Amino acid sequence: MEIIKPDPSFSQWRKKIIKSYYIIIIWLFVVEMTVFLTLRDQGLMGDEYLTDFRYLITYVATPVFTNVALVLICQRINMLNIKSQIKNYTVVLTSSLMSAVVAYVHYDVFSVLTVFSLPVFLTILFGQKKMTNVITGVNSILLILSIFRSYKFDDSIFFYLNLAVAFTMMIVAAIISSVLIAYNEANTDYIYSSYQKQLSLREQVRTDSMTGLLNQKAFRSLLKACLEKAKGTKTPMTLAIIDIDYFKEINDTYGHMAGDQVLIKFTQLIKNQCYDIDGHIARYGGDEFTVIFQGASKELAYLKLEMLRHQCTNISSVKTGVNQINFSAGIAQYLEGDINETLLFNQADTALYQAKENGRGNTIVYLDKAI
Ligand code: GH3
Ligand code: MG
Repeated sequence: MEIIKPDPSFSQWRKKIIKSYYIIIIWLFVVEMTVFLTLRDQGLMGDEYLTDFRYLITYVATPVFTNVALVLICQRINMLNIKSQIKNYTVVLTSSLMSAVVAYVHYDVFSVLTVFSLPVFLTILFGQKKMTNVITGVNSILLILSIFRSYKFDDSIFFYLNLAVAFTMMIVAAIISSVLIAYNEANTDYIYSSYQKQLSLREQVRTDSMTGLLNQKAFRSLLKACLEKAKGTKTPMTLAIIDIDYFKEINDTYGHMAGDQVLIKFTQLIKNQCYDIDGHIARYGGDEFTVIFQGASKELAYLKLEMLRHQCTNISSVKTGVNQINFSAGIAQYLEGDINETLLFNQADTALYQAKENGRGNTIVYLDKAI
C-alpha cells in the first residue's frame, strides 16, 4: 500500500495569516498613537507646519488605511477561483507591500528598514525555497526604493550603518528560512518513509508472502468482523474451506518448487472466481484456503467452487508438469441466530472433513448432504 504525501492547499493558513495582518495593523495603530501622544506631551512635534492633524494623517491614518486596503485586496484575491500558488504569493507579497508602506512613511526612522526581512521568514510556511528567493529579491528592491526616499540622510555614517543592518537582516532571514525549509522537508520525508515502512510491516504481518493472500491470523479477525457485519445487516454470509487433494504427491512427484507454483496458480484461480463478489480469500496454511462470501448464500458459494473446480481441470499453463488438480471443500452458512466465528469455522471444517471422507474432489455444505 502506497501512501501519497498530501499536497496542502494552505487555504486555512492563508486565512490565519490574513487575520494576523489585521492584528499587526491594530498593533501598528496603537504604537503610532502612543508615539504621537508621547511626542506631543514632550513638545517634540517639530515645526509649526506639523500640526496634530497633519501628523495623524501622515503617520497614523495613511499607513493604517493603506495597509487595510492592501489586506482587503489580498483577502479578495484569496476568494477567487485561481491557482493556490498565486494566492500563496499574494499573501506573502501583501506583507512585503505592508512593510514598504511602513518604511515609506517612516523614512526617517532607519531601523524600520529591517522590516523587509520579515516577509522572507513568512515564506517558511509555504516550504518553497524558490518563494524565499523571489521574496528576498522583491524585498531587496523595495528596501532600495525606501532608501532613496531617505536619500537626504546619505551624508551620515549612521545611515549606512543602518542600511548594512537592514540588508544583513534580510540575508540572515533568507538563510535561516532556507535552512528551516530544508529541515522541514527532511522531517516530512522521514515521517512519511517511516509511516510507509510501518504500513508495509503491518501488511507483511497480515499476509502470506508466497501468495499475497491474507494469512491465518488476519483471516481469523476478518471472519469475526464479517460475521458481525452479517448479523448487523441481517444478510447471509458463507464460509468455505478449501484443501487441495493429494498435494503431498505433487510435491513428491514434481518437487517442492512445482508445488509452490501450483499454490500460486490456485490462488489466481480462486481470485478470478471471487472478483465479482464480496469475497475475502485467505491462505489458512499449507494447501488450505478459506473464502468468506459476504452477503452470499451457500448455493452461490457452492456454484463458485464448482466453477473453480472446473478451472482446475486444466492448469497446464503452469510450467511444472502438473496438468490438473482437484480439491475438497466444506461450506458453512450464517443466516441468522447467535453463532460465533469459531462455531461457523468448525462447521465448515467438519464439512471439509466429510468431503475428504467422501473420497475427495467434492464440496460438502454443513448439515446438508453433498449437493
Ligand atoms: P489431502 O488430500 O488429504 O489434503 O492430502 P494432501 O496430500 O493434500 O496433504 P495435506 O493437505 O494433509 O498437507 C498439505 C501438504 O502441503 C503438507 C506439506 O508438505 C505441503 N505444503 C505445505 N505448505 C507448503 C508450501 O508452502 N509449499 C509446498 N510446495 N508444499 C507445502
Ligand atoms: Mg491437501
